[in-house]
Amino acid sequence: MTANATRVLVLNSGSSSVKYQLLDMEKAADGDSAGARLAVGLVERIGEGTSRLAHTPLAAGGATRETTGPIADHQAALKAVADELAADGLGLDSPELAAIGHRVVHGGLKFTAPTVIDAAVLKEIERLVPVAPLHNPANIIGIRTAQALRPDLPQVAVFDTAFHTTMPESAARYAIDVETADAHRIRRYGFHGTSHAYVSRRTAELLGKAPEEVNVIVLHLGNGASASAVRGGRCVDTSMGLTPLEGLVMGTRSGDIDPAVTFHLKRVAGMSADEIDELLNKKSGLLGLCGDNDMREIRRRIDEGDERAALAFDIYIHRLKKYLGAYTAVLGKVDAVAFTAGVGENAAPVRAAAVAGLEELGMAVDASLNAVRSDEPRLISPDYARVAVAVVPTDEELEIARQTYALVTAS
Ligand code: ADP
Repeated sequence: MTANATRVLVLNSGSSSVKYQLLDMEKAADGDSAGARLAVGLVERIGEGTSRLAHTPLAAGGATRETTGPIADHQAALKAVADELAADGLGLDSPELAAIGHRVVHGGLKFTAPTVIDAAVLKEIERLVPVAPLHNPANIIGIRTAQALRPDLPQVAVFDTAFHTTMPESAARYAIDVETADAHRIRRYGFHGTSHAYVSRRTAELLGKAPEEVNVIVLHLGNGASASAVRGGRCVDTSMGLTPLEGLVMGTRSGDIDPAVTFHLKRVAGMSADEIDELLNKKSGLLGLCGDNDMREIRRRIDEGDERAALAFDIYIHRLKKYLGAYTAVLGKVDAVAFTAGVGENAAPVRAAAVAGLEELGMAVDASLNAVRSDEPRLISPDYARVAVAVVPTDEELEIARQTYALVTAS
């Protein structure tokens, strides 16, 4: 690696999409996270006739370039991304590129930290496909394609599960037969770990403390949603489990549910395992409850007096409150609650309702602070509150780039 190799390309490969960002880690180290982002983009509907590539060369002026038309596979998608980057002088062959950081959803128990990908690592990520059938295959394709484009460059896997590997067995194990659980690797892994790691650290910074000094409950509320309890910078519990289905009410996922509901649906409604999987993952949560999974639309309908939307909102908030209470008990002492991701960062009514009535737990939200819109981390609790309530925008790409760069410059 050359001395001026300070850039990291972050790739987030889904089954039919690739999201990417090119970051300059010297600028990021100087605290200029906006200036660090040289280019961002997205390829979607890969494999369809209507594929779309949207590329924004932030460093070169910013106007988004859009191309539509068939992109056959991930290989063609990444080649198209490489061409877009090259058009701005940011091509993958640039000596300034230090590494490619890949978001990998499932790292099982083995990967507790970002890892330089070699054949053995790739094999292990493949071995985890049965526990992450929707995600790991797409991540693997992304890695193989990037390796083919730049075989000489370090490729790093940053795992969604890694931050949660510090959970004690008491939080990570389901209370089922141990032999069956171990034979099939059934346990609680947790997801969104990159976001929980980043946000809990930023929350400590906001309080002017080191991560080791604070206990934080992070509420990552996007379309997918999860909570985590972080003691002194280490995760001790999180709401997602074997898969991202467990825990909070989400856009389209049910979150916590009596597992007997699934037997009931099979025996009484005659549904297959795949149909139940689809129901709970894609047709439940806010969408199943009221027909909408976008919190903006739900709030608009509530303002118009829509009762189904109001009930969906109440169920969503009830679950959040349960986790705030549970994680307060798990941590013993809470210094901060941090709201993040699409809903957490933008939906002031969700934040107000989730914390309402929790004064006995030391939690409160100041209405005027909560109403402020900003991209910066900020406190929204009144001075008297024992627990700091904060809005801390997440930045998973920056965190993946940071971890990738730290790994390749340390070696
Ligand atoms: P993903 O899980 O897809 O990464 P995001 O973190 O981007 O999701 O969150 C997307 C969700 O954020 C949307 O479905 C919507 O419910 C919510 N959201 C985005 N902007 C707003 C807003 N201004 N007010 C309320 N909710 C919002």
